[in-house]
Amino acid sequence: MTGRFAPSPTGVLHLGNLRTALLSWCAAKRDGGRWLVRMEDLDPVTSSRDHERRQLDDLARLGLLPDGEVVRQSERFDRYRAAIERLSADDLVYPCYCTRREIREAAAAPHGDGLPDGAYPGTCRESSDEQLRAHERDGRRAALRLRTNGERYTFTDLVLGEVTGAVDDVVLQRNDGVPAYNLAVVVDDHEQGVDQVVRGDDLASSTPRQLHLHHLLGFRVPAYAHVPLVVGPDGSRLAKRHGAVTLDDLAARGMTDVQVLRLLAGSIGVVVPPEATAAETAAQVAEKVAAGFDLASLPRDPWRFDPSGDLPR
Ligand code: GLU
Repeated sequence: MTGRFAPSPTGVLHLGNLRTALLSWCAAKRDGGRWLVRMEDLDPVTSSRDHERRQLDDLARLGLLPDGEVVRQSERFDRYRAAIERLSADDLVYPCYCTRREIREAAAAPHGDGLPDGAYPGTCRESSDEQLRAHERDGRRAALRLRTNGERYTFTDLVLGEVTGAVDDVVLQRNDGVPAYNLAVVVDDHEQGVDQVVRGDDLASSTPRQLHLHHLLGFRVPAYAHVPLVVGPDGSRLAKRHGAVTLDDLAARGMTDVQVLRLLAGSIGVVVPPEATAAETAAQVAEKVAAGFDLASLPRDPWRFDPSGDLPR
């Protein structure tokens, strides 16, 4: 069994990210599996090595150490381009010159064909060569999209149960040449031998697209567990504006890393026996969390955390 955590190094990990990391770690370790960390740093503008270092440090503070080297998507563009080539050879790729605005406007129009909200309506799919040349003359640069046919995918999520969704003409490569998330994640999960994906349930709607790409590329599909997110006292997804949400913020309010780990363990339905010794390390506690973890006992509702309230000790 190989699981993974795939953060984007675009900021400091907050309690919500750390909880998802812990969940993916427990789900892999419980069965003696491996746990990988992949940096999803496709976007050179928003990603940084400083954030990456900081994120790995924070994971280590909770005893979550990757098995094997950390992989960076920014160093794997050739792999993603090779996958696009394979899809192209099957005539499954076409250039798209639409601007964001054009897509927004077209996507807002009712499709009536069961496409997911915000799905690309396929404007450039049937463009003539003359139209394509006109876009080039206008100085537009093409993104690359997958040619789909209204396929629908159903998968059995380990947390959400049966999920069905439509597939659209997803972007494979942005118009600045950067490979797109949905493609990169599929290529990486396959090439890294990931067979269990535990991630936030905000990504469940992307999964049918990814399943489709897995099938087209002939890859084996991993098991998916989309876990509930952490929300602040107002019910919206936990964010910096809610207050003390990072390990450093919580340390400044007097919580040790082990206390944070115990708090997160409680939130995922694991009761960790009291400390054996005062010197117990996060790594030792994390082992106990994994041993007591069961996806079946994971609360199905978002975990509400109030960072400005009384913090547990
Ligand atoms: N990089 C994505 C994120 O930080 C996660 C992607 C995934 O787990 O598939 O939200």
